[in-house]
Amino acid sequence: MDFEDTAEEAAYRAKVREWINANKASIRAEDHSSRAEAVTAAKAWQALKYEAGYVGITWPKAVGGQGGTAMQQIIFNQEEAKVNAPTGLYAIGLGMCIPTVFSHGLSPDIAARYVPVAMKGEEVWCQLFSEPAAGSDLAGIRTRAEPDGDEWVINGQKVWTSGAHLSDFGIVVTRTDPSVPKHKGLTMFIVDMKAPGVEVRPIKQMSGGSEFNEVFFTDVRVKDTHRLGAVGEGWKVSLTTLMHERLAVGGKPASAPGVQEMIELAKAIDLEEGNALEQSHVRNQIAEAYINDRGIALTRMRTISALSSGRTPGPESSISKIVVANTMQDMGAFASDLCESAGLISGENLPHLARFQGSYIGSAGLRIAGGTDEILRNIIAERVLGLPSDIRPDKDIPFSEATRLS
Ligand SMILES: Cc1cc2nc3c(=O)[nH]c(=O)nc-3n(C[C@H](O)[C@H](O)[C@H](O)COP(=O)(O)OP(=O)(O)OC[C@H]3O[C@@H](n4cnc5c(N)ncnc54)[C@H](O)[C@@H]3O)c2cc1C
Repeated sequence: MDFEDTAEEAAYRAKVREWINANKASIRAEDHSSRAEAVTAAKAWQALKYEAGYVGITWPKAVGGQGGTAMQQIIFNQEEAKVNAPTGLYAIGLGMCIPTVFSHGLSPDIAARYVPVAMKGEEVWCQLFSEPAAGSDLAGIRTRAEPDGDEWVINGQKVWTSGAHLSDFGIVVTRTDPSVPKHKGLTMFIVDMKAPGVEVRPIKQMSGGSEFNEVFFTDVRVKDTHRLGAVGEGWKVSLTTLMHERLAVGGKPASAPGVQEMIELAKAIDLEEGNALEQSHVRNQIAEAYINDRGIALTRMRTISALSSGRTPGPESSISKIVVANTMQDMGAFASDLCESAGLISGENLPHLARFQGSYIGSAGLRIAGGTDEILRNIIAERVLGLPSDIRPDKDIPFSEATRLS
């Protein structure tokens, strides 16, 4: 494993740093204080990046991308994370939806209509996959699309759709043929989130925010030109999105506190037996977090090293995601415990604690989104350890029969 940038990577990093240093003054901490301000700030930063050629770094030049390498994208992300740039609004759209659109859109007109506008940040996208009865088992979705002339009519419900309330468009996976096994009767479309019949209902989270939604479709009409991939090939198309999702979800969010913050917090707390940092149970917990943190960093370096030398990374990102989310949750719980009853308070005068609380609450979602802990363990068991595969009794029977059984 090679920890150093190659000469080209170092040159690219220097160029990126120079650009970020020249533009970072436009990122202000107060931009994150309210939802409206956060959206405005994210749009402004996205427009700057687009102008400078730092959007779609790995995408083909034919769709407006830079035709660059995965390493260049990683380097840009690493440098951008250091200045806490507001990128969340586009993580799903540009990270997952648009690559699906330009990889599977039926005509060049579709790419020309949607890709550049999304790259500039003028339109926001969401991913309409999960449903009340289909999450880990995505192929079990029930939202129907039925043909009607050169259009399709969509009816059904999605749930946990991040950012749907802020989105202009989405990619939706639907069932177009229930008479074949569940993976075979799916078809994907681009849907206009402002179309008649689309209703977005925000879900209130325990953090106080409402970042994801239920989305209801009632006789929503979509033109056949907005189909992604062939009819019945929606599973294959959705794998493009999910592959990008696995790469996008899993790293420690920039806002999550790390080991250093845990040390600072312990230093600032006096327990009955003395300063918290001097106590063995606190030191053990910090050591544990440090070991996990280093393990995550080195596993990530293994992925980066594979990309840098032109190899495809293995399923180690599944291992990282499990460890990242669980470490965040353990650290957040420990920090809150350490503060006793004050662990329940968050306020401007307790910045460390507020970040640990946020991280504790947010990590529950991270353990589910982009593959739950159990599903990732299944992947590791099957693809890394070569253990027998999970039991899938409904795999080869028509979906309509499988749902009657359930
Ligand atoms: C923060 C967040 C953001 C999200 N954003 C989006 C979004 O933008 N768009 C979208 O479409 N979806 C989104 N989701 C939904 C997410 O993809 C699903 O929640 C996830 O796939 C799990 O599905 P589920 O909630 O239906 O749980 P289920 O699949 O019903 O799982 C319930 C429990 O059963 C376990 N389980 C299920 N199958 C197995 C198995 N075979 N073996 C062992 N255990 C199993 C799971 O691990 C889990 O503990 C988001 C979720 C979160 C938390």
